[in-house]
Amino acid sequence: MTVSRYAYRSYKPEAGGSPDFFAKSIATLEGVSAIWFLERRHLINSKSPRMPPDTLHRLMGLYAEEAERCIRCGFCNSVCPTTLTSIGFKPSKTSRGRLVLLQSALQSGWPDPLSKNFKELIDLCIGCTRCVDVCPAGIPIPTVMSAYRAAYIGKRGVGSLDRPERVIANFEGFVRGLSRMNGWLRHLILTKPTLYLFKRLAGFADDALLPLPEGGVLDEVFRREALKSGLRVYAFFADTYARYVRPSIAVSARYLLNQAGIDLFLPPQRDSGILYWELGMWEKVKELARLNVESLHREAVKGRRIVCTSPASTMMLREVYPRILDEEKSREVAESVVDINELIHDFVHLGRISADLSRERCVTHSTCLSQHLRLTSLIADTLETLNVNVDKVLLDCCGSGGLWGMLEKNRALSREIGERLVRKLGTSGLVVSYSETCALQISSLTGRRVEAKLPHEALYSWILQPKARTPPANISPAS
Ligand code: SF4
Ligand code: SF4
Repeated sequence: MTVSRYAYRSYKPEAGGSPDFFAKSIATLEGVSAIWFLERRHLINSKSPRMPPDTLHRLMGLYAEEAERCIRCGFCNSVCPTTLTSIGFKPSKTSRGRLVLLQSALQSGWPDPLSKNFKELIDLCIGCTRCVDVCPAGIPIPTVMSAYRAAYIGKRGVGSLDRPERVIANFEGFVRGLSRMNGWLRHLILTKPTLYLFKRLAGFADDALLPLPEGGVLDEVFRREALKSGLRVYAFFADTYARYVRPSIAVSARYLLNQAGIDLFLPPQRDSGILYWELGMWEKVKELARLNVESLHREAVKGRRIVCTSPASTMMLREVYPRILDEEKSREVAESVVDINELIHDFVHLGRISADLSRERCVTHSTCLSQHLRLTSLIADTLETLNVNVDKVLLDCCGSGGLWGMLEKNRALSREIGERLVRKLGTSGLVVSYSETCALQISSLTGRRVEAKLPHEALYSWILQPKARTPPANISPAS
């Protein structure tokens, strides 16, 4: 038993103890040792814990036990993008520091897990998943952080989220509404002054490129075009980005897969819930997961693969849904999921997608989630097999963390993280990067001098649209 556990039990009322100052101090000091002494005395800002350890344990469920398994080795620090910055010298602002603070809160109630300071420290985890592969204890660190946020919301309510977080929680509805608007009305709304005003009011940074709809709704695009006869049908999980923000992502995926004898069908579906997951709104994630699993399972039992064109969607369907729903259907859906890059890689090696792209040149950016999903070498191999000249493969984080880096409160740190990547990217050219928000971040950090495309979009434009930059949402089928 650790000293802090012993000390905590000694004053736990139900164990017959009393909350004497000495026991409480030992519990706290062992947990936050370096952190508390060095720099964050104000974390301990009330006389009695507002969320007693038992409550935090109950609300975090088995992820409380995961946090307690941390052996404080610091391996996660060595890969954590927010730790490897100018704030990383402060122990509380590191990946290990967050685990240590959480352990202390779980053991002693200190530092106060309901305090704003504590939540701000936890919110420095952007969910990139880089640490998961290096943690010797096998702790799903971003999920533990999300579980803490869920506990925070469980105790204080969704109303306790700050304004930018509330905007993110409503982002899906916002882009869905915009995408359905008449073209001229949308353009009227998305002028520079209105966008500026929106960013200021919602808490987004002026220089961030927001994921705003290009026009068209994917459901209508797919409805206009019947499935092509003679092709094998796979189900397509589009998620909010391909459905409402850039339907051209889905259109290019569909035409590229047509070359390999596959057509895509769009079953009923909702948002994957990745933004709610990051915010800790687990009840909302569960609601969306149940609806998506119910619909996608009907496709899976027909033997259809479920294709994703976003690493966030692949991760949500494969890893998060089975974890939070914990039922057979979600596991069966997870087994049917295939990422578009895995599919293309297989088809290129089977000769079902072929081309000589020796005139094409690019840099490849392996995003955090690409690395987590083991897609880096698959994407590189696909490009190499098709003779694309890949100048370099960059593994650095761009600092976007989904919408996290677009918020004004995080922008300076996000830019600092992304600078290393931008320096290596150079000043112009094409970068192939598998994440929609990483592509936006690269464009904004390079002043749009570097063009960023998803891997399948780049292949689509090289193979099927050599003269076009990106396909419009209402593009006609390739004959
Ligand atoms: S790598 Fe794992 S065990 Fe080591 S400090 Fe980080 S969370 Fe703890
Ligand atoms: S998920 Fe990313 S940001 Fe969060 S602790 Fe791990 S490496 Fe750091």
